[in-house]
Amino acid sequence: MSTRVGVLGATGAVGQRLIQLLAPHPEFEIATLTASPTSAGRSYRDAAKWRVDTPIPEEVADTTVAETDPDEVPNDIDLLFSSLPSSVGADVEPEFVEAGYVVSSNSSNSRMDEDVPLTIPEVNPDHLDLIEVQRDERGWDGALVKNPNCSTITMVPTLAALEGFGINRINVSTLQAVSGAGYSGVTSMEILDNVLPNIGGEAQKMETESRKLLGAFDGAEVTHHSADISASCNRVPTLDGHLENVWVDLEDDPSPEAVAGIMREYPSADLYSSPDPLIEVFEDPERPQPRMDRMLGGGMAVAAGGIEKTTDGVQYNCLAHNTIRGAAGASVLNGELLLEEGYI
Ligand code: NAP
Repeated sequence: MSTRVGVLGATGAVGQRLIQLLAPHPEFEIATLTASPTSAGRSYRDAAKWRVDTPIPEEVADTTVAETDPDEVPNDIDLLFSSLPSSVGADVEPEFVEAGYVVSSNSSNSRMDEDVPLTIPEVNPDHLDLIEVQRDERGWDGALVKNPNCSTITMVPTLAALEGFGINRINVSTLQAVSGAGYSGVTSMEILDNVLPNIGGEAQKMETESRKLLGAFDGAEVTHHSADISASCNRVPTLDGHLENVWVDLEDDPSPEAVAGIMREYPSADLYSSPDPLIEVFEDPERPQPRMDRMLGGGMAVAAGGIEKTTDGVQYNCLAHNTIRGAAGASVLNGELLLEEGYI
């Protein structure tokens, strides 16, 4: 039997990707869609400025968009995916969880809360059991689970692969696509023929979320990884796909071949949306590139290349599709993990 799911913020850039991934999903059935009061009451076809690279799925096109309010969502929904602006999510997501819903959320609010699991199923699936701590502390019947920021999720699987070499320090510089700013994020006058060398709050998210994801969970709390992380985030005029230049100072001194090998071998999860291989490693130093490589593994793979030794360790480039692996696909994968682990 399918799990009945809903999407909060279904009309936005990430919400549309969620619909695209959930409509054909073998385990989930879309049962409700919500958005802002401006969209509520309209058909999904009318309310969503559909910009995803497949036609709008017929099974949701005539669904009436509901208000984002627990009283407006049917009680028999098993799981909600949230792609609300974080200011809205901060108020509304706890209301849904208090009402008993399990919420798998993209929004940045609460990601660093001590009792909220921040998970990438291939990297730290054990952190999901923070839900028990969350339920004890907050008295919730439902649960709130987060996936990381799109720039963080692009880099962290490659770091998880390198963990055995001992990570001391990470420097990263990003080239992030415009879809990462949402449907009405940056205007064409700002971004065409230009690069924006600051994305508000993004560098800090990369630094803190990476440490939490790579940290150790002892059943009660997550001890964050001790590596120093320094990030610089740039918006560039690509549509989808974040490319990142990473420098990692390691305890050991592996060859570029050993780094490539360990990344290639890093396992995927035994879940429907987890690609195999998880990390696609290129020998060609011209790859990965956003236009050529963002759809690897259905948009769920991480690509790496340009691996070189430097005086400070190892340098490489990595890439992932920011609204699929970096957002909607990451939430869906967490939904699959919640199902697998019996939280739904
Ligand atoms: P977006 O395109 O602006 O979409 C926002 C969605 O939230 C729309 O469905 C919008 O509905 C709804 N909404 C806005 N105000 C609301 C309100 N007051 N009450 C209820 N619903 C409201 O944003 P996005 O890029 O999809 O991002 C969504 C979330 O995912 C954000 O928290 C963002 O930080 C996070 N995220 C985004 C990316 C990315 O690559 N874009 C990656 C990772 C994480 P209307 O259409 O009716 O306005």
